[in-house]
Amino acid sequence: MKIGIYGGTFNPPHLGHIAAARAAVETLGLQELYLIPAGLPPHKTLPVGSPTPEQRLEMTRIAGEALKTLLPVSALDIELRRDGKSYTVETLEALRERFPDAELWFLMGTDMFLSLHTWHRADRILSLAGIAAFGRSGEDVDAKFSAQCENLYRKFPWARIFTLSVPDVVDVSSTEVRETLPCGGGARWLSPAVYGYILRKGLYATDADLKHLPLSRLRPVALSCLHPRRVPHVLGTEQEAVRLSIRYGGDVEQARRAALLHDCTKRCTPGEQFALCDRYGIEPDPVERDNPKLLHALTGAAVAREVYGMSEDIVSAIRWHTTGRAGMSLLEKIMYLADYIEPSRDFPGVEELRRVCYEDIDRGLIMGLEMTVRETGESLHHATLEALKDVKGTK
Ligand code: ATP
Repeated sequence: MKIGIYGGTFNPPHLGHIAAARAAVETLGLQELYLIPAGLPPHKTLPVGSPTPEQRLEMTRIAGEALKTLLPVSALDIELRRDGKSYTVETLEALRERFPDAELWFLMGTDMFLSLHTWHRADRILSLAGIAAFGRSGEDVDAKFSAQCENLYRKFPWARIFTLSVPDVVDVSSTEVRETLPCGGGARWLSPAVYGYILRKGLYATDADLKHLPLSRLRPVALSCLHPRRVPHVLGTEQEAVRLSIRYGGDVEQARRAALLHDCTKRCTPGEQFALCDRYGIEPDPVERDNPKLLHALTGAAVAREVYGMSEDIVSAIRWHTTGRAGMSLLEKIMYLADYIEPSRDFPGVEELRRVCYEDIDRGLIMGLEMTVRETGESLHHATLEALKDVKGTK
């Protein structure tokens, strides 16, 4: 088993880190990757808006999602939990103990590699792990690294060093990202969900007004609230909602906003859902209480209103997107159906449902509601039956 270990301050993790990790994973055929944010010295005072260690860990975890199609990736907090000075050698000792038979590779960029001989217990580091060293810009890696390679091999003949160029290198540093974030920049160097997380938490003095976000910023913020596997669904719902709005003369901008936020609390556990209900004064009915999966529509609507300042039309489209209700507005119908038929959905009958939705929205609604009634047992919400009766009555 070949395991990659990629340490860094990750303050914040940017696309340069991800491109380099991807290149190392592919070139060395790594089978598992650990991203390890370094602890910052406790005595060091950080500027206002700096992330906490937990937030750096969370950003690193989110950034690592981009590599999960290649291999299992985890963000580890072992250095963040360690008191006092944190040394790479201790991290590698811990991982060696955890994976006694694995081949460990420690990943690092130019600046780290060129100073490696000065690190605490460099001899031990080089016996615990191979070094995968990559360039941070389009530089000639061989020319830049050869003297250091020879130097290290001379001092530590047991060292294993692998140098590589990153094909799609992103020449940026976290320092540059930190400098541009307060002025509204930085997004192009970050994965959308990391950028959204930064805005949502107000890190690095971004100070975004969450209640008045333009769509270009609301989108990453919304994506940062989701489990990564739900991202294609939410982006698909946004696109479907746009198409339906154009087809039926709805407000495209409102449809986009509703779609982006419709699952914003879906990731919460039942306990967190009930806590949100308490916070926003929501009283779920007995069916919703017994079926906490339904709660995200209620809590999502409340968060959309209270945190993101959405209009009542949008709030209501989120509130009823799961069950439907009698007397649905056009936006509510669009949200309900976009969620049902967006491109990543795949279930028997979805093609037919898609066709009908674009022929006649109410016939599409009847079809969708009837499918829900058929497939949902005792936990069917009364609002779905009321929606069905209502829309049939108006046909
Ligand atoms: P800062 O600007 O805060 O010093 P940084 O951008 O150098 O941060 P770190 O988290 O300190 O990022 O770096 C972690 C590791 O990633 C180091 O080994 C570093 O050499 C490497 N690295 C950083 N940026 C890049 C990049 N753009 N391309 C490739 N490797 C990078």
